[in-house]
Amino acid sequence: MEFAILSETFNKMESTRKRLELTQFLVELFEKTSNEVISKIVYLLQGKLRPDFEGVELGIAEKLAIRAISKSSGIPVKKIDEEYKKEGDLGHAASIILEQKTQTTFLVEDITVERVYETLLKIAKLEGARSQDMKIKYISSLLNDASPLEAKFILKILLGTLRLGVAENTVMDALAITFSENKENRKILQHAYNVSSDLGEVAETIAKKGLKGIEEFKITLFNPIRPMLADRIRSEEEAAEKFGSKFAAEYKLDGERVQLHIEGDKVILFSRSLENISNYYPDIIEKIPKRIQADNVILEAEAVAINENTGQFLPFQELMHRRRKYKIEKAVTQYPITVNFFDILFCNGSSCLEMDYKDRRTRLEKVLKEDEFAKHIPMAIMNNGDDVSEFMENSINAGSEGLMLKMLDKPYQAGSRGSHWLKLKREYQNELGDSLDLVVIGGYFGKGRRTGNYGTLLLATYDEDEDTFTSICKVGTGFTDESLDQLYQILNSKVTIKKNPRIDTEMEADVWFEPELVIEVVASEITISPIHKAARNKIRKDAGLALRFPKFTGKIRIEKTVEDASTNEEVITLYQGQKKVAHDKSLM
Ligand code: ATP
Repeated sequence: MEFAILSETFNKMESTRKRLELTQFLVELFEKTSNEVISKIVYLLQGKLRPDFEGVELGIAEKLAIRAISKSSGIPVKKIDEEYKKEGDLGHAASIILEQKTQTTFLVEDITVERVYETLLKIAKLEGARSQDMKIKYISSLLNDASPLEAKFILKILLGTLRLGVAENTVMDALAITFSENKENRKILQHAYNVSSDLGEVAETIAKKGLKGIEEFKITLFNPIRPMLADRIRSEEEAAEKFGSKFAAEYKLDGERVQLHIEGDKVILFSRSLENISNYYPDIIEKIPKRIQADNVILEAEAVAINENTGQFLPFQELMHRRRKYKIEKAVTQYPITVNFFDILFCNGSSCLEMDYKDRRTRLEKVLKEDEFAKHIPMAIMNNGDDVSEFMENSINAGSEGLMLKMLDKPYQAGSRGSHWLKLKREYQNELGDSLDLVVIGGYFGKGRRTGNYGTLLLATYDEDEDTFTSICKVGTGFTDESLDQLYQILNSKVTIKKNPRIDTEMEADVWFEPELVIEVVASEITISPIHKAARNKIRKDAGLALRFPKFTGKIRIEKTVEDASTNEEVITLYQGQKKVAHDKSLM
């Protein structure tokens, strides 16, 4: 398939943010796409080469791309640099420059999607001393044969700046329309995606085998399953109100969620955002397979840092020390953990997702033999709000965050935040009842003791419908000197010349960041805001929502992707809950 077709579609998609239009462009594209190439197109659309969990990173530095453009066009690096500074986007700058190309190539080879994809994959896999030169060679060979528009998108993919605003849901809508003529069939596609986390494979299956193939889609060991999430509640009474009598409560431990795929000695660990995190936990890889009494399993657990002397659970931040490339063995002994299992998703070649909670827990207890390192998460059956209060107290005393409440007769709903699991967290000094995980989009230079650091950050929620990041507050409290330094280090690599188009705000900032980092904040209240863009027009026309007195909790949520950040829907729910509490209080 000609790459020109893809780049023309990308070009049209860049000009709109409207979901219906984007879907229509995708349908037209998929109609022209052969079954052999559709998975590649689905990955490229999202600026990827493979599903996230495979960890294939292109990671081309701008400098290297500039050298490649220069090599292919004969235009000096300095001139390209200048054009880039003017345009703020290297892909766009390259397309302008290549219009004025001075070097002519005589043998022009066709640019196909297959060729671009395979070349990009080769570039991603290059390592070692000579890899830079090889990368430049591959990139310039593509650019030699590319039209300016094709070059623009090849570079955007290479640099990770292709932002078409197509969320997974939009891709699935378009697949359902193209291959089943009915958008409603998206639900069936959604299930396949939830159990495979691989949109390319889902696309190829529906293209080749139709809806029937999708209905028969099975869990594959070592492909992560998208996790089930919980709704938040504010009180023990609310638990009893929502669940009636008889439900399960488990400790909500403050660690890292780990999905373990195990067959014999082979183990792969995935994080909450489905990143392969096996390297950080050699102790889990070594010890857990010995505790498993099944041929193969997929289990879920919370890995928690502990105080080895007292056995007390330690906060999540302790696990940050394990996120390192080197000397991981030392970190393993310095920061010991226990692994606390709470679910089983697959066992001996069959899915357990359809089993109800009770049966899954029984199966889990049979399959995993406990010891000092591997534990079943503490669980008890609740009959009323009082039971919940008592168990909550035990949980907090043990050093955990609160409780997870789970309905006994419900299946595991992969990939959804449903009402079959509820989370009840210890009260923060936070009248909202829960913290928010927000995306850092901008920064302001500090004064006084904070000179040389970002003293205040501009934060955003995730707008799922638009696939954008909408500003909700500035935060300047809750930082220690250490956390300011740490944030500065992380954020400095994310500074951009121009504001990323997915950022939706009217605020100004000293610097803009690529929306890539999530931090946790608490606040006293959610208020109507004329300036912020979160939940704009949802509660009041021409106004959004903002946080009042936001405060950083000290938690950098490295395990969350920006799409996992708090959504505008969640903020609206909190806003409405807060109004209800105020109303109830006024009646007392
Ligand atoms: P939070 O920000 O509160 O950690 P989250 O958005 O990561 O929440 P939620 O579904 O809201 O996800 O809360 C569940 C999280 O709590 C899980 O992702 C997991 O890491 C953790 N957890 C701790 N104990 C349990 C448990 N017993 N069952 C399920 N999840 C647990």
